[in-house]
Amino acid sequence: MPELLRPSTIFFDLDETLIDNTSDFSFLIADVFKTFFPQTVVDGSMQPAVASAMRGSAGYLWKNMFACREEGKDALTEIFRHALVKSELDESQAVAMGRRFSYQASQGTQLKPGAVQLLTNLRSSGMTIGIITNGIEAMQHEKIGLHGLGELVDKVIVSEETGAHKPHMRVFEYALRQLNASAAEAWHVGDHPLNDVTGAINCGLTGVLFAPTDDHLDNYSIEDAEIRAPDYTVRNLHELNQLLCSG
Ligand SMILES: [Mg+2]
Repeated sequence: MPELLRPSTIFFDLDETLIDNTSDFSFLIADVFKTFFPQTVVDGSMQPAVASAMRGSAGYLWKNMFACREEGKDALTEIFRHALVKSELDESQAVAMGRRFSYQASQGTQLKPGAVQLLTNLRSSGMTIGIITNGIEAMQHEKIGLHGLGELVDKVIVSEETGAHKPHMRVFEYALRQLNASAAEAWHVGDHPLNDVTGAINCGLTGVLFAPTDDHLDNYSIEDAEIRAPDYTVRNLHELNQLLCSG
């Protein structure tokens, strides 16, 4: 383990790092459809054609999120709108469906133990703190707002606004610029070995893997990518607190 040099800036991933996300997206989507179009859900299951349209739409929009934003479109609305059009359902419900989905998804998240204490301690030690999260801006901000994390950090960066997703260097470079920070003095902490750790290290930051269990890496299927070994690995946020705030 390298000699510890405390960072002046620290970034955190959001999902599965600062918060637990226990939402079952398939269930949430079925619930939203059941509310707006009850005929599309039978015994809790979506009609296969509608479910397939929704999957296709979500995949398409994730890949085209940035083009969509350039056109001034809301990604979440567009995901539902595409699926509704394909399913010959009333597309005017797309905005409301996107909002309901985002709200319900945020309700399925909980703060990780020790998150508030850690962020409070880091801030009082003088560190600048950012969140770098992959996702749709509206959804990620809803979760951050629900848990009051916005007040505990200096900046929230959602990949949608940067034009790329982690592990792309553009995301980390954008985040460093936003906080006027240098990569050499910055850490990034996250659960994903490619998106968080490798992305951060490739950009010159210190990469910290948040790995709650021994078999943590089995949860990620990563192909054709060179994974960098983390500079530090922590089991939980208390451990990180100990590493950075004690002594
Ligand atoms: Mg994560």
